[in-house]
Amino acid sequence: MTNSSSLTPCTGKQALSAAQTLGLDRLDAQLLLLHALGRPHSDRVWLLAHDGDALPAESASLFRQLSLRRTAGEPLAYIVGRKEFFGMALQVDARVLVPRPDTETLVDWALAQLASLPAAARVLDLGTGSGAIALALKKTRPALDVTAVDASAGALAVASANAAHHALSIRFVEGDWLENVSGHFHLIASNPPYIAQADPHLPTLAHEPPGALIAGPDGLDDLRAIIDQAPAHLETQGWLLLEHGYNQAEAVRTLLMQRGFAEVQSRADLAGIARCSGGRWQAAGSPGQTAG
Ligand code: GLN
Repeated sequence: MTNSSSLTPCTGKQALSAAQTLGLDRLDAQLLLLHALGRPHSDRVWLLAHDGDALPAESASLFRQLSLRRTAGEPLAYIVGRKEFFGMALQVDARVLVPRPDTETLVDWALAQLASLPAAARVLDLGTGSGAIALALKKTRPALDVTAVDASAGALAVASANAAHHALSIRFVEGDWLENVSGHFHLIASNPPYIAQADPHLPTLAHEPPGALIAGPDGLDDLRAIIDQAPAHLETQGWLLLEHGYNQAEAVRTLLMQRGFAEVQSRADLAGIARCSGGRWQAAGSPGQTAG
């Protein structure tokens, strides 16, 4: 069955306004239309200059399908298969959490600490997902010796494809936090799952892997495990830097202090929320060493 709309050529402008009527944000609609046209995201100016052109029928139909996926809540990054993080284009799909700009706070903090460490310092990214943190650090400081861990084989496949695409040499380890890691690191960074299992915001994250988001009744289960296990793999004076939820900074600082970390402190994200906390592991024999 045909109808008149499938026979009437549709312009880019008409398609964009139809998508906005469905509830799509203007920028998302433009990026999805560029995707449906097989054009790079940097072509938004081209799109505006050509919005009176008739769309090829296949692109118009693909754009409608993509718009419906977006209005059903699927992240734009999964639909287009990529996300920018720290100036790098990363491939992403439903096997990994979509990298958030908040996590750039953790990368900035890690880079600031690494500035006073040897160029070839050993760095560990726990729960690497798409590889965002590990790749951002290695790209900025190419001499670093970077290891990235994830418990999900699917996530490691995504992360290692990203590392290969950016020609960055990173050691990947499959395992639950530090269980399969050997050696000592100058810095351990992690953006672990930190959402409480009954958090009312979880339905808005339904397209992302629950294993990358949810961490027990108070959202702190994985942060507790990492804080407990990290000292056995930190160099003396090594740093543990953690991302956590908007309301978890005090709890995470307390866990770090109880475990024997020194210089415990937090860093704010772009919205001014204390989003990362960390501390420095003291010399062997300090009280924290036996507290775990
Ligand atoms: N920052 C993510 C969110 O709240 C959660 C990431 C995580 O659990 N590590 O949407």
